Amino acid sequence: MSDDAGPGVPEAGGTSSPSDGAPAAALRRIAYLLERGQAPTYRVRAFRAAAASLEEAGPAVVAELGAAGGLRSLPGVGETTERVTIEALAGQVPAYLQRLEAEAAAPLASGGEAVREALRGDCHSHSDWSDGGSPIREMALAARDLGHEYLVLTDHSARLTVAHGLDRDRLLRQLEVVAELAEELAPFRLLSGMEVDILEDGSLDADADVLSRLDVVVASVHSKLRMGPGDMTRRMVAAVASPQVDVLGHCTGRMITGRGRPESTFDADLVFAACASTGTAVEVNCRPERLDPPRRLLALAAEWGCLFSIDTDAHAPGQLEWQPYGCARVAECGIVPERVVNTWPVGGLVSWAAGHEG
Ligand SMILES: [Zn+2]
Ligand SMILES: [Zn+2]
Repeated sequence: MSDDAGPGVPEAGGTSSPSDGAPAAALRRIAYLLERGQAPTYRVRAFRAAAASLEEAGPAVVAELGAAGGLRSLPGVGETTERVTIEALAGQVPAYLQRLEAEAAAPLASGGEAVREALRGDCHSHSDWSDGGSPIREMALAARDLGHEYLVLTDHSARLTVAHGLDRDRLLRQLEVVAELAEELAPFRLLSGMEVDILEDGSLDADADVLSRLDVVVASVHSKLRMGPGDMTRRMVAAVASPQVDVLGHCTGRMITGRGRPESTFDADLVFAACASTGTAVEVNCRPERLDPPRRLLALAAEWGCLFSIDTDAHAPGQLEWQPYGCARVAECGIVPERVVNTWPVGGLVSWAAGHEG
């Protein structure tokens, strides 16, 4: 993993004179590290909101208010964010940030380091166009600062209304935004994509002609997870066989934290055989509450000769750091980096996604 710090990080040691953007950068870095450490969204949001508020006010006003003890008159600035701002204005690395940086010095998972080293990007991420918390640009910049060569943006499809999924019109509009940003961010590659819902009959919740225009399509089951194994198998195999689908997302749908959710039941041999024969990658979903598929299914998919994609399914910038969770599991199951599509050069990834049968 790269040692690069996240977006807009104050210099370690922080003895340099305060720069104009230092307080906002410190607040954003705190948010990022909280996300990496699985902090709840509401805690993170306070720091991002305060950073935005400071940027809106501008450095001169922030410095003035800081000197006068009036920072809390800015919207979204509270006790903690005020303290961080004052310390950053004084040219220090805020104590709160120092604590988080110390925690983040430890790797998230052990094992799979070689796989992590080989990864060049992430094929599953969300922005505030669906249920992510940050704009597309911030997600892309975080991926770039992490050392990635590319990020695939895969917001949800329309059926997932709770996640503000994208219908045809919004997806087409997003494609224009992605194209503009891609130009700005080059040579970093922001790739277009979608996490399309697999409907009950195995069809996809988006039109084939639009899906065909996307660089990478992840297809996932988000509804009726408890259907019988025969129906679920047919449903998943049909999706895997769709020419537009490149990655089968979090295949069991399990949740392993909180109240949890059991795995969906399906004939894993049939599903992975379909993935292997169509060249569709099986996702290794790195979200700590998912870690999907479980190891026994990961090993089975490897036996079938499947390809894999180690994806964070990040809904916030700091969550892009979660790939080590999946890398450790991939290494444990004896899967070599060459079988993982996001170790390939981006050109190879894009042409695989455009060219395989499923
Ligand atoms: Zn999903
Ligand atoms: Zn997702």
